[in-house]
Amino acid sequence: MISLILACAGKGERAGMNKNKLLVTTDGLTVAEKTFLAFKNTGLIDEYIVVASEGDFPSFNKIFNGKAEIVVGGNTRFLSVRNALERVTGDVVLIHDGARPFVNEKIIKNCIESVNEFGSGITAVKSVDTVAVENNGFIVDELKKNAFTVQTPQGFKTEEIKKAFSLATRTDYPDDASVYAEFIAKPHLSEGDENNVKLTFKKDFSALKTVRVGEGFDCHRLEKGRKLILGGVEIPHEKGLLGHSDADVLTHAVMDAVLSALSLRDIGYHFPDSDQKYKDADSMLLLTEVLAMAEEKGYAVSQVSAVIMAEKPKLSEYIPQITENLAKTLGVPADCVGIGATTLEGLGLVGSEEGICVHAPVTLT
Ligand code: MG
Repeated sequence: MISLILACAGKGERAGMNKNKLLVTTDGLTVAEKTFLAFKNTGLIDEYIVVASEGDFPSFNKIFNGKAEIVVGGNTRFLSVRNALERVTGDVVLIHDGARPFVNEKIIKNCIESVNEFGSGITAVKSVDTVAVENNGFIVDELKKNAFTVQTPQGFKTEEIKKAFSLATRTDYPDDASVYAEFIAKPHLSEGDENNVKLTFKKDFSALKTVRVGEGFDCHRLEKGRKLILGGVEIPHEKGLLGHSDADVLTHAVMDAVLSALSLRDIGYHFPDSDQKYKDADSMLLLTEVLAMAEEKGYAVSQVSAVIMAEKPKLSEYIPQITENLAKTLGVPADCVGIGATTLEGLGLVGSEEGICVHAPVTLT
């Protein structure tokens, strides 16, 4: 039977967030849950023990109630793991940082196999840089070969690591392998992965976010006496687009794509045409509101690729201005906005000049 201790009692001060970094949510899941699921989804672990600080205990209890046992940690990693070890019933135990959500099945399997064969498995990757050992500002030892960067999980036979922790007289060990090394045996390395990073600084958290793709489509009727506005640019033409707002069909398609990418419904939902507030509204301002909603979810548009379907007028000469205007509002370089225009060879509602349609996929990061 294999047990996992997930160390979540750190303060995460280096991340500069005003709460435990493991409770930061992206795409609806906290970092701690992502790490937990990375193990859970392998089906290799039989027992889960989460160590949380006293202050965070209620939050972790809410997240993991029924999924893991929650244990209150101590002031150091050593004390936290020691508390958790008391609850372990498996004969093999893996100890893992809650802040390493990119752990994968191969790493976990390597660690377990190493414990079975050699008594311990310390996940590590060969260092590509030269590692220097410093004392008082001077390099006292330089390890040119065989240097490894140690990660987690670190796996042990439960009885042995419990014995090591019970024999230790200090509490400042950097990790569990060093306790094991002092009292039991030389720890055995198991192959890690350079992607198995520990989220430490605020910038590290951007790696948690996935790319989102959204589809947007819109169509408006062409009428005499209306302005033709595309991407916030007024195009001279005998007809313009009919709509409750300024009927900027291109901007509407882009807005819908952004909303769709983030599962935020559509523009009809957020800006209903029954609301007088949006009568003749400038769609570029509505786009700004949509971008603020995206930002709230931690996303920004990275690229737009749109095709305008219009029989008339010829749009070619206006494309650079439309592109620049949209890029400016979206806050991306102009070469991240691609606008194409096409006729439909006289076919259908576009061909008969009854309307203009736009299809606009976007990506967000
Ligand atoms: Mg529309």
